[in-house]
Amino acid sequence: MKAAVLMGPSEIVYQEVPDPICPEDGIIMEIEACGICGSDLRTYEGGSSNKVYPSIIGHEFSGVIVESKNDTYKIGMALTVAPMIPCGECWFCKRGIQNLCENMREIGLATGIPGGFAELIALSGDVLKKGCINIIGEGVDHIHAVISETASSVLSAHENAELVMEDLVVIIGSGTIGLLHSEIAQLRGAKETMVVEMNPEKVELAKSQGFKGIYNYSSSSEELKALIMEKTEGRGADVVICACPAGQAQSDAIQLVRKRGKVIFFGGIAKGVYPPIDTNRIHYNEITIYGASAYTPMINKKAYELISTGRVHAEKYITHKYHLKDLAVAFKDMKDGKMIKGVTIPK
Ligand SMILES: [Zn+2]
Ligand SMILES: [Zn+2]
Repeated sequence: MKAAVLMGPSEIVYQEVPDPICPEDGIIMEIEACGICGSDLRTYEGGSSNKVYPSIIGHEFSGVIVESKNDTYKIGMALTVAPMIPCGECWFCKRGIQNLCENMREIGLATGIPGGFAELIALSGDVLKKGCINIIGEGVDHIHAVISETASSVLSAHENAELVMEDLVVIIGSGTIGLLHSEIAQLRGAKETMVVEMNPEKVELAKSQGFKGIYNYSSSSEELKALIMEKTEGRGADVVICACPAGQAQSDAIQLVRKRGKVIFFGGIAKGVYPPIDTNRIHYNEITIYGASAYTPMINKKAYELISTGRVHAEKYITHKYHLKDLAVAFKDMKDGKMIKGVTIPK
């Protein structure tokens, strides 16, 4: 088969590699689409130290089963797959917090299990049982279904922070994640959402895809603060979500949220960067800060259902499709802020 192989930092080679062999109790799936994620870009650029080379990365993909030794997953079934494979045995898994599993394995994150930037993938019976797998229903676009991975992380954050029927939710960053936060906050009854984006081209792209409530401000902007205060009679936003890889946004979020409000630190920031956080404001204003990382298989199922039923409009997010051989071009376009969600298509 052909695959886009990550040979080392910033080095992708589209090449012939051996076909995967169907594991006992497992399947072989022909990949139809694989989403390109911000974390893939970080891995591509050599962002973290635990990465194994060469690796086939890509962790949000869908396709059709072409070989099966599994009783549940049969040839011809379409699946969408997300990377998290919790162990099911550790202290966290046993308490239903599988997203923080101590023995987490991941598909396509350059940690040893090949991912979706390839023509074929093998999934073992163990992965099919413990992982995040959804059978794509009749009438659901297989390419759109890849959005369920990103939507899982977003939905998990909303559930953990118990965001429901807020008056004003402010989201910093208009990437796939920021826009999903806005759509999911609205589904959960938010009266108003504001997506704040400092790059004017990304603002225009989001608007042209039909997203509403997109504002061209930096999170530090005094004008933004004044607008939020005006909308809330001087209180501040109920919730501020940082959906960008910037420490500054985390500092600013504390200034934009109301007393007893909630802040979610969603986007990871560079290692070793410690943004100044106004802890007195947290203390006196009783602000709660939530971390957010990954999702459980149950949340992944719910997220898939948001997409398969059309409550989340997956088609609005996918702005770019690349042939698999052009993955390096896709990474460059992503870095330049040209896309909302890009996907690779192997054929
Ligand atoms: Zn992802
Ligand atoms: Zn575990």
